Amino acid sequence: MFKAFLIKYAEIGVKGKNRHLFEDALVHQIKVALKRCDGKFYVHKTQGRIFVEAESEFDFDEVVETLKQVFGISGICPVVYAEDEGFEKLAKDVVDYIDKVYPDKHKTFKVNARRARKDYPKESMEINADLGEVILNAFPEMTVDVHEPDVMMNVEIREKIYLYSEIIPGPGGMPVGTGGKGMLLLSGGIDSPVAGYMIAKRGVKIDAVYFHAPPYTSERAKQKVVDLARIVAKYTGPIYLHVINFTDVQLHIYEKCPHEELTIIMKRYMMRLAEHIAKETECLGLITGESIGQVASQTMASMVVINEVCELPVYRPLIGFDKQEIVEMSEKIGTYETSIQPFEDCCTIFVAKHPVTKPNPKYIRRHEGNLGEKMDELVKTALETEELIIVE
Ligand code: ATP
Ligand code: MG
Repeated sequence: MFKAFLIKYAEIGVKGKNRHLFEDALVHQIKVALKRCDGKFYVHKTQGRIFVEAESEFDFDEVVETLKQVFGISGICPVVYAEDEGFEKLAKDVVDYIDKVYPDKHKTFKVNARRARKDYPKESMEINADLGEVILNAFPEMTVDVHEPDVMMNVEIREKIYLYSEIIPGPGGMPVGTGGKGMLLLSGGIDSPVAGYMIAKRGVKIDAVYFHAPPYTSERAKQKVVDLARIVAKYTGPIYLHVINFTDVQLHIYEKCPHEELTIIMKRYMMRLAEHIAKETECLGLITGESIGQVASQTMASMVVINEVCELPVYRPLIGFDKQEIVEMSEKIGTYETSIQPFEDCCTIFVAKHPVTKPNPKYIRRHEGNLGEKMDELVKTALETEELIIVE
């Protein structure tokens, strides 16, 4: 019965002169997302409202699930619409609507009419009163409550007449693309996909970089990261995934530096390379899945040493979350099952038994000095041989 959706969006950040940018970005993101659904849709904005109208048959649940993945949407209202063929017909449509949507009639209601077309013969107040009466006559179990009705029967009079009463919650946030672009360090773990989701929710477009170490890490481990990027891309739109072969850099560190410092030095190189790519691709920050104290390289002392090598801000949206909370989020966004597939990650191959938890920046810098010019060569090669995968 529903043929359209009225899209409600959060008002935060949409005031003033940026409002149309926000709305256009939202319309764009909705169009991109709906390409995944069967059917043809017309997405447009009119008088401060965004509508999705179906121009063919479509699967209601599929479309709702998809719209729930579009950041910036605060509510999705399924709409029935009809041509304006006079008040008698409108009254009949409203009664039909309530009859179908609310099998149990023991409900309070209020009619909320809005006339976007001033040549309609009745004023809003009059429509409210007249339709209220029609509903009371049709369904004697229903009663009026103008303050907190169970059913807010919205009637919008435009070229056509739109009826809706249900609001399905959307994900909130800001439309992707309104907040610049960030470079996500995406591993095959549980945390980084969630970190990407959280930053994207604030309107930030995401590119990603993955460091792999063949043959120590398999093709399957890389595929897992691509699979994770694909899930995150449902929310963010296409992700440019830069895959960097990190093997030689890692082996060189392994050879020249104290083993308890391997992880931290490796992380510093990941950050340096990620920042290089970020700057080339106009990203305004790096994003990681780190959380204080989770592992040795995520203590505050370690973060000082890691941050030291980059100029761009490093965003760590999971910083204050417990593992269990991150797991719950990853289940909610759909990345968990993929993240827990048992494929080795390049960090787990070269880990020391007793990694430093309070690295001394002076020592770290000195030991990195041992890497010499050879490291510059290896970094250059790693960047030159990157593989770019566009994940949609
Ligand atoms: P995750 O679950 O995201 O893998 P983690 O708990 O395994 O995180 P670490 O291995 O310390 O923690 O990694 C911390 C962060 O560093 C990750 O969240 C990710 O942003 C980045 N990172 C780690 N390994 C890689 C990699 N191979 N490629 C890209 N980024 C990585
Ligand atoms: Mg990891």
